[in-house]
Amino acid sequence: MIVDLINEFPTMEILKNELLNKYTHTAIGGPADWLVFPHSIEEVHKIVDFAHENELLLTVLGNSSNLLIKDGGIRGIVLMMTKLVGIRHDADSLTVLAGTLTIDTSEYAYQQGLTGFEWAAGIPGSIGGAVYMNAGAYNGETNDILASVDVITRNGKYKTYTKEEAKLNYRDSVMQHTHDVIIAASFQLQKGDKTIIRATMDDFNQRRRDKQPLELPSAGSTFKRPTGYYAGKLIMDAGLQGYRVGGAEVSKKHAGFVVNIDHATASDFLQVIKHVQAVVYEKDKVKLEPEVRIMGSD
Ligand SMILES: Cc1cc2nc3c(=O)[nH]c(=O)nc-3n(C[C@H](O)[C@H](O)[C@H](O)COP(=O)(O)OP(=O)(O)OC[C@H]3O[C@@H](n4cnc5c(N)ncnc54)[C@H](O)[C@@H]3O)c2cc1C
Repeated sequence: MIVDLINEFPTMEILKNELLNKYTHTAIGGPADWLVFPHSIEEVHKIVDFAHENELLLTVLGNSSNLLIKDGGIRGIVLMMTKLVGIRHDADSLTVLAGTLTIDTSEYAYQQGLTGFEWAAGIPGSIGGAVYMNAGAYNGETNDILASVDVITRNGKYKTYTKEEAKLNYRDSVMQHTHDVIIAASFQLQKGDKTIIRATMDDFNQRRRDKQPLELPSAGSTFKRPTGYYAGKLIMDAGLQGYRVGGAEVSKKHAGFVVNIDHATASDFLQVIKHVQAVVYEKDKVKLEPEVRIMGSD
């Protein structure tokens, strides 16, 4: 079926054949047939219903900080949630719209004197992405503070998952299996000392600047942590730092990151991933599984 989404939804922010490398933290990714920026939950709902009724592919992106989108791009509709933003504050709990940045939410919690969100101070994703991935750092993770998640199911129903139903585990959540669109999440925090909260956030951010290649495009840690090991250490010990294909390279600063040093393509990035997996398996018999979400067509 040939659709003209702009004609269908004239008041929405929609771009046709839009290159996604403008938005991804890897600066890699071909075009989306239709790129939609919903500004309200109602707009998300309309697009989900339309995609369902017309059997169109629908891909949901947050702040695109954990993605490797292939060079052929993404067919159908891409919903980029970054303009669905807002935080509601009630006593010690926050309800946050899915596109709100995790960094902004962490900063907001600090301003309210609430503790629990410090670990997220430097994670460059959205709240929807943090819930979907159970993002975490420095001994904290989304699941620690999650109270509930509001979603729209793929057939257009509103639904709320309790923390238990959302099943957040290491880089996993129930939404990875149901493919629901996350529209908001609520978090239970505690009153804390603002000076200590600020110092903790600053310390975490300094540690990131010291250790991570933040000056180059990447998707953060390329691989999940294999049980009993650290991916970065395995890669470093295998002598793979600086291994390069085209414009993609295993970071010389942090072996756990693949960085885009010079107009890398998704194919460059994937070849680096495959090589690292093969060498580490050969040497240590450990299977490295990508943490970055690989999507789109060649
Ligand atoms: C420099 C750097 C440092 C990083 N450090 C960390 C770290 O310390 N800890 C950590 O856990 N991660 C880290 N990351 C990875 C990344 O920031 C997190 O995984 C983040 O939570 C992803 O959020 P996002 O909004 O960017 O999601 P995206 O990258 O846009 O998407 C990730 C996945 O979530 C899905 N998704 C996103 N939003 C929604 C939604 N609203 N509804 C349904 N599905 C959705 C997408 O379909 C995709 O499969 C880092 C990345 C970078 C670039």
